[in-house]
Amino acid sequence: MKKTIFITGASSGIGKATAKLFAAKGWNVIATMRKPENETELNLLDNVKLLPLDVTSLEQIQDITQQALALGPVDVVFNNAGYALLGPLEAATDEQVVRQMETNFLGVVRVTQAFIPSFRARKAGLFITTSSSAGLMAFPVSSMYDASKWALEGWSESLSFELSQFGIGIKNIEPGLVATEIGDKSVTVSHPEYDELANKFFAAISAPGMGVSSSEQIAEVVYEAATDGTDTLRYV
Ligand code: NDP
Repeated sequence: MKKTIFITGASSGIGKATAKLFAAKGWNVIATMRKPENETELNLLDNVKLLPLDVTSLEQIQDITQQALALGPVDVVFNNAGYALLGPLEAATDEQVVRQMETNFLGVVRVTQAFIPSFRARKAGLFITTSSSAGLMAFPVSSMYDASKWALEGWSESLSFELSQFGIGIKNIEPGLVATEIGDKSVTVSHPEYDELANKFFAAISAPGMGVSSSEQIAEVVYEAATDGTDTLRYV
């Protein structure tokens, strides 16, 4: 029987590449994104179903989860939606700080909560989350982004203790730099007192020779995590 993956943030980058790879491997793909009406590639694939989902909306998460499960069992949930709030903390508004955590951390928590009952009932299922190397190390002028990914790391490890007894797996993907639309979709704030540090950091991560992966390479890691049958927590 065909397996099904549910993906958040499938409109671009890692999420989109993962949707395409799993569809090519013969999986059913439920590709969620904020504006499925703008999608012009995934909607042409036979085994891909597009659904609207903004992971900051609890109501929409609950509704879309039910719609997805009404189509049949979901085997893998790929919690991937996210963006970066970059710049010094002093320059960020409270709204920007809250939104970073609501998207990158609470979005994952809420989607996971919505799927746990169906996974527990089937005694099967796997949650894969796009964390980051920024979930394992700290970088300057990205404290809230780093915090959102560090939160995911501790949360995942703790959650694996309570879900493994039901045959439910938890895995995190921790990429370094990946060529995606994240740069364009990030929110950057600044303050002149921090410009020197910020400029140094941004120059360092865009220097020639910095290893940059493609979305397709990360999609392959997601596929490995989904199919390797291990209980490995971290895919660095
Ligand atoms: P992209 O910007 O290309 O993709 C991000 C995706 O997340 C888009 O589909 C975007 O949708 C979606 N998204 C953002 N906010 C929301 C929201 N509130 N609800 C639903 N979807 C949302 O970047 P990446 O592919 O790089 O990012 C994917 C994940 O990878 C993120 O979690 C990111 O933190 C992580 N990551 C990225 C790295 C990199 O260097 N690129 C490195 C390590 C981790 P929309 O089109 O509507 O904005």
